[in-house]
Amino acid sequence: MAEKVVIIGTGPAGLTAAIYSARANLSPLCLEGPEGGGQLMTTTGVENYPGFRQAITGPALIEETHHQAERFGARFAFETALSVHLSSRPFTVKTDARRVESETLIVASGASARWLGLENEQKLRGHGVSACATCDGFFFKGKEVLVVGGGDSAMEEALFLTRFCAKVTVVHRRDKLRASRIMAERASRNDKIAFLWNSVVEEIHDPAKLKVTGARLRNVKTSQALEVPCEGIFVSIGHNPNTAFLAGQVETTPDGFIACRAGTTATSVQGVFAAGDVMDARYKQAVTAAGTGCMAAMDAIRFLEALE
Ligand code: NAP
Repeated sequence: MAEKVVIIGTGPAGLTAAIYSARANLSPLCLEGPEGGGQLMTTTGVENYPGFRQAITGPALIEETHHQAERFGARFAFETALSVHLSSRPFTVKTDARRVESETLIVASGASARWLGLENEQKLRGHGVSACATCDGFFFKGKEVLVVGGGDSAMEEALFLTRFCAKVTVVHRRDKLRASRIMAERASRNDKIAFLWNSVVEEIHDPAKLKVTGARLRNVKTSQALEVPCEGIFVSIGHNPNTAFLAGQVETTPDGFIACRAGTTATSVQGVFAAGDVMDARYKQAVTAAGTGCMAAMDAIRFLEALE
């Protein structure tokens, strides 16, 4: 028999959708995907999610929410949605393990780290190039590293890396940070953090040695090149929405985010709803993801009620 609700993704959006749809007795099936728990799994302290007087770690927040959803009957599968068929209902989701049919679909597949697109970047991934300080910072004890980006994530990465590294240099393409004031101030006050403004990474050395030995930067204002020795490069330049498995069956914005009808989570396909970073190009917070997850579940519940 077809499922009532299948939720793709288990970050704060998917898990909140799971809590709400489980509490409506719909026993949702949640597909964990390749990055179960989403971006919070690589976040250290979450200080801006309401309800926690002290910072809570990202993984702890996810674990709590997971248990909360399970308590009401949400089911979880360590499977990844590879493709979907949305031309008729019940929809079909092909995972890496089986085919699942469902009356509604909540897409909460989040977003994944963006890369600079440099030739040596991928060659040196895992050999000094990383997009996750929480995962890899420990390997850079006493070393000098670069963090590329000027947003909150870059500041968070830089601050976290000061626990291990001798020096952290933030390389930002403009002369003003995008990060929130509190994060920018924290980073600026930290003695171990330096900033290189108006600069982009042009080349990463040295794939022949299979390790990072430095980078060639370019000042975008003066066009001057600068060789910077370092042993690690953390790329923190935002995220791309994970929509490849939808294969164009759901309308997206020009930036690739799922387009939703204003004020709702309804997509271009009736019965398919979207929540969290996969549809939010603007706020991208854990709490807004949870909020849209709640909305998606309520939209799905109403859709199912209307069918009956
Ligand atoms: P973001 O805010 O989109 O920032 C991305 C940064 O990378 C920007 O500074 C951008 O430069 C730079 N960038 C983008 N493409 C680049 C390229 N090809 N080359 C060089 N630089 C590039 O992304 P984010 O920092 O991941 O944050 C995402 C959201 O999560 C934000 O809303 C943020 O507030 C939130 N967040 C909050 C916290 C917190 O509060 N503790 C922590 C992490 C994330 P420009 O500035 O020039 O565009």
